[in-house]
Amino acid sequence: WAKAGGKNRLVAYAEGMSKEAQDKASLRDDLADALARGQFEVFYQATIDFRKHETDSRAKSYEALLRWRHPERGMVSPLEFVPLAEASGEILAIGAWVLRTATAQAATWTAERGHPVGVAVNLSAVQLGTDEILTVVKDALRDSGLRPHQLTLEVTESVLVGDLEAVSARLAQLRATGVLVAIDDFGTGYSSLSYLRRLPVDTVKIDRSFISDLALGGSATTLVSTIIELARSLGLDVVAEGVETEQQAQVLRDLSCTYAQGFLYARPQPAQEVSTEVPALVPALVPAPAAEVVPA
Ligand code: C2E
Ligand code: MG
Ligand code: MG
Ligand code: MG
Repeated sequence: WAKAGGKNRLVAYAEGMSKEAQDKASLRDDLADALARGQFEVFYQATIDFRKHETDSRAKSYEALLRWRHPERGMVSPLEFVPLAEASGEILAIGAWVLRTATAQAATWTAERGHPVGVAVNLSAVQLGTDEILTVVKDALRDSGLRPHQLTLEVTESVLVGDLEAVSARLAQLRATGVLVAIDDFGTGYSSLSYLRRLPVDTVKIDRSFISDLALGGSATTLVSTIIELARSLGLDVVAEGVETEQQAQVLRDLSCTYAQGFLYARPQPAQEVSTEVPALVPALVPAPAAEVVPA
């Protein structure tokens, strides 16, 4: 037996449990009351529209990204704790909280800015595995006053691995309420191109791994180009994830990609920092410096 995270709660640690396993067990234990203790925060990262040139109107929407401010460990990545919360079922309560928080924030920005601001929320396969998600989404919209089309639900291809029919039906029900659906990390999972046609989705987000190889040319460019063409033929929006360099952005514009998200434009940040941010000038839109006059 060992004390977990300095709290007066005991966690059973099996004899010979590895350091990593102990670590995971204590994290899992702390997760149980993290929501009640107000340790979660939502950060927001803009998605920009390549076709808009005025920097203040470039943000298409903001993706809500969950953060756990752990009292001893500091910021814990969702990649680390979301799987634990899925295994325990806690993702249902946490995910509902993210939906309420993000829709309320988008409604606040909409009122402040005087034009509709969209928000995208990541959904876990566990959330999509239950009918409860329909009520959770409807309640979040009702309580925030956000219009359904201002909310996008992001799901990864992995949610489709299970019961494709049931998940598709639930996504279709959600879309029938007017919310939008995006396939996240597209290209990394099992679904691939052929699924796109059958899925009730509005947007495809091309996985960062393909974008990072873009400037190198070759197969990454061919693949991204194919995804963009296919999405366009199906009438879907395309977002390139993880755009970090101007070279990548240039290739994407050449391929007629419409939306981009990445550190080149904005990092995920707390809501109050988004509210006051002066939109960064996009490098390609900054007028080229006048040619230097070289004295004769
Ligand atoms: P995701 O939905 O694909 O989110 C994009 C991730 O890429 C975010 O990581 C973001 O910080 C990161 N990112 C954005 N632009 C760049 C870039 O230019 N370069 C690089 N290297 N990274 C970039 P984050 O916030 O750590 O989230 C990781 C994953 O955790 C998310 O991937 C999503 O699958 C999951 N997640 C986050 N929030 C939630 C949530 O509320 N619920 C659920 N179920 N999952 C969530
Ligand atoms: Mg996402
Ligand atoms: Mg993604
Ligand atoms: Mg991703």
